[in-house]
Amino acid sequence: MRFSKLRLTGFKSFVDPTDLIISDGLTGVVGPNGCGKSNLLEALRWVMGENRPKSMRGGGMEDVIFAGAASRGARNFAEVSLQIDNTDRLAPSGFNDSDTLEIVRRITRDVGSAYKANSRDVRARDVQMLFADASTGAHSPALVGQGQIAMLINAKPKARRRILEEAAGISGLYQRRHEAELK
Ligand code: ATP
Ligand code: MG
Repeated sequence: MRFSKLRLTGFKSFVDPTDLIISDGLTGVVGPNGCGKSNLLEALRWVMGENRPKSMRGGGMEDVIFAGAASRGARNFAEVSLQIDNTDRLAPSGFNDSDTLEIVRRITRDVGSAYKANSRDVRARDVQMLFADASTGAHSPALVGQGQIAMLINAKPKARRRILEEAAGISGLYQRRHEAELK
């Protein structure tokens, strides 16, 4: 399973549809201040099911929608699509029936978020589990945002353990146990 393309439409500063081709060896994004580097990383977290406004640097989830600029009006929805190369057929079951897997998340003002996997409606939880099982996901330690190294160093032991569990790919199991205990 490899991420191959990220497409942003109306997401934060990316008002027009914008493709980020994720080719082999891409390890970082550079550019002038304010050009949208952090927004790209947030789009990747968001399409994987991030639901904490704070980690999207916003007050509410709708703050990811393009809010307008001097010459352009605000948008009513934001959409991020993540294309995944699944030729190795390592996607978790339920998502493993084709060579490419496309996950789409769209948020519409006053309506909320909806997810699709290869054009089929799925739940937020299905998408979060897909990425947790694939050892990536919105909270993945593979995504190193600004200030995160300092956060890891200063984290309390419990929080640091959670980061290690994500890295070990067992956080999906914990999530399922937690849900089972609630039932
Ligand atoms: P730095 O090098 O300073 O970290 P960066 O490349 O990471 O910069 P971002 O933080 O990704 O830049 O982008 C910031 C830009 O995105 C700002 O110009 C901000 O106004 C714009 N922006 C953020 N949210 C929205 C939104 N909802 N609608 C329109 N523009 C937005
Ligand atoms: Mg930044």
